[in-house]
Amino acid sequence: MRTHLKKNQNSDSIMLRSFLLLLTVVIVGFSIITSVAVGHQLLETSRTTSNNIIKSLKRTVIDSDHDWKQWRFNSLLDTSTSYVRVRNTRRHITTQNYYSPGTRSLLKIKPQKIFFIHGLYYRPHVGFLLYNTGHAKGISYGLWTKLNSQLEILERVIIITAVVLVLILLTLPLYIRVIAQRLTGPLSQLTKTAETISIKKIQTVDKLPVPETPTEVKNLALSFNRLLTNLYSKTKKEKDFVANAAHELRTPIATIRSHVQLIKRHGRDHPEIVQDSLHYIYKESEQMSILIDDLLALSRADKMTLIYHNYDLSASLQQIAQEIAQLAPQKIITRIPAQVKITGHSKSISQIIIILLTNASKYSAKDSVIELSLKKEADQIIIQVADHGIGIAAQDKKHIFERFYRASDVRGTIAGTGLGLAIAQQLSLLNHFQLTVEDNHPQGSIFSLILNL
Ligand code: ADP
Repeated sequence: MRTHLKKNQNSDSIMLRSFLLLLTVVIVGFSIITSVAVGHQLLETSRTTSNNIIKSLKRTVIDSDHDWKQWRFNSLLDTSTSYVRVRNTRRHITTQNYYSPGTRSLLKIKPQKIFFIHGLYYRPHVGFLLYNTGHAKGISYGLWTKLNSQLEILERVIIITAVVLVLILLTLPLYIRVIAQRLTGPLSQLTKTAETISIKKIQTVDKLPVPETPTEVKNLALSFNRLLTNLYSKTKKEKDFVANAAHELRTPIATIRSHVQLIKRHGRDHPEIVQDSLHYIYKESEQMSILIDDLLALSRADKMTLIYHNYDLSASLQQIAQEIAQLAPQKIITRIPAQVKITGHSKSISQIIIILLTNASKYSAKDSVIELSLKKEADQIIIQVADHGIGIAAQDKKHIFERFYRASDVRGTIAGTGLGLAIAQQLSLLNHFQLTVEDNHPQGSIFSLILNL
């Protein structure tokens, strides 16, 4: 029940209500002011006329029938609208009161004073009257002037403003609706398209229409389209990621299954193949285990919260180099100044360096050298891992940080998941570091981790 009574809150209705209220207030206010001003002006004009008549009466000094006749003869008094009473209070007079035509019957019913407006009276059956008096030489003059014609003018003014008000109030909603439609139409269109997009499957082609005007709606549509593009690419990346992960897992599983089948079918008759197959099964399961570890590391890196602490970066890097040197066939040379201390997240920094050193070892000849160096500059620390290995082709450089990307020359020849650098990149972003790659000379690659201080 309540909802039926609720006001329509869309922009058109809000604009319409506000404008109507504003205009009604303005026009009614204006009408009142105009009517009061016109009324006041008319009253003042009547007052001046009335003063002139009183002046003429005072000048004449009506003391006898002769004076009265004389004045009546010369005066321009309109007896249909003005009523004069002369009251003589002097001694030795023949007539005490003189009345112009109609005055006597007018005064039969006493006119009622209207408060607040000086000299204004109301006489039933006659209407509003302006009363003015004068006094000269013991004679007092009273003059009532009918205000009917002035009131007619005032009435006309009020009627005209009322008609104008009604006309405006009738036509304005149409005009405001047109304006509001022009402003909110594109917004409604935008909402409709957004709703259509939201209920169907997200597709890259889906974009909101971008109107030329109003600018705010245009900007909103542009921002929304940017948001949609980001959403599409994010969704696509997630889908690709799942598809890649499934693919990477499917390959070792298929290999394992085929070896199990081989053992089942021929294991009894050819026991020599069992050892071989078990070896492959072990290798493939190890690869799967690495892949799952990398996937977990990536998912952790996506939502890791970093707690910083002050630690000795030099010591930490030396320790990592020693640990990797025990596993890698290459010689690891370190160029690390002692006692470089930073405030950072040691675990994620170590993880990045381990990935870079492992890759350097994986993609270099066994007898080559790997260098781990640390340079401290004014506002940054640069940690570099340089190898003299196979190097990275220009077209691969822009993709190697993507998830599951592996250069075609290493696929199938060197074991890997294609996730190491993606994890390193994610951790760098999380720490607000920069991770870059460049060629080493005469061959190999240099990965640099830049820590801004
Ligand atoms: P993975 O090493 O498991 O393949 P990464 O994400 O660590 O995955 O590396 C992505 C790709 O970048 C590698 O497959 C390889 O082609 C290339 N790459 C990374 N590090 C090096 C390196 N030091 N030398 C040559 N190529 C490299």
